[in-house]
Amino acid sequence: MVNFVGAGPGAKDLVTIRAYKLIASADIIIYAGSLVNPELLEYAKKDCQFYNSAGMTLEEVIGVMSDASRKGIEVVRLHTGDPCIYGAIREQMDRLDALGIPYAYCPGVSSFCGAAASLNIEYTLPGISQSIIITRMEGRTPVPEKESIESFAAHNSTMVLFLSAGMAGELSHKLISGGYAGDTPAAIVYKATWKEEEKYICTIETLEETAKKHNINRTALIIIGDVLVPGSYNRSELYNPYFTTGYRKALTEE
Ligand code: SAH
Repeated sequence: MVNFVGAGPGAKDLVTIRAYKLIASADIIIYAGSLVNPELLEYAKKDCQFYNSAGMTLEEVIGVMSDASRKGIEVVRLHTGDPCIYGAIREQMDRLDALGIPYAYCPGVSSFCGAAASLNIEYTLPGISQSIIITRMEGRTPVPEKESIESFAAHNSTMVLFLSAGMAGELSHKLISGGYAGDTPAAIVYKATWKEEEKYICTIETLEETAKKHNINRTALIIIGDVLVPGSYNRSELYNPYFTTGYRKALTEE
């Protein structure tokens, strides 16, 4: 059995109980060494074998999984955050399907949730934004033309950019030419929830300057939107005393 497991954003105790149990009982752990906090491996059994996938190809990863499956031993494939975001798990699952190897998927806390916690922000403030656009700048992996940064910027919603800290200057241009004001609040969160975490609030215009000043070009998220600064948002209707919900009757105004 292979278990794809979300390792969370970094902090050793930010994994689910299920993830912890799977890590603790695995015979083999294949972890994404460029991003997964190695402290998580301390939860593993003494005789657990470790493979760092940073230096492996997809074929090598699948090779380890299929050898293990033949021997009937447990494999954990540890991916940073939640594997459903830029995790490259589909291609592994498809190969396991073809080989008839069973697998399961244990979700994790994505780094974009870790970053919100680090900043003490809510991405969806009534009256400001009710949507989060999660995207990235194009790198070696192409981004479909219809998903350009400019087209998403036109919404002026909350935006979270993965894999883009090394391209902050180009990103700013695209965000502004797409429709955000240059002074829209922005944040850079490096290694959210790790001991080495760093976080900076700036504006879209000053993203590149801020990233360069603090030498941040990887393992960081860029967050865009007015939800970053204390300002005027509407209070929630859910907790409004004058609003009836499925669980509570509204007070009547006297
Ligand atoms: N599946 C992961 C994302 C993998 S893509 C998740 O759910 O978080 C790798 C990118 O994620 C990095 O380049 C960076 O942009 C972001 N990232 C991962 N961990 C991070 C962290 N602790 N702090 C900030 N960004 C992080």
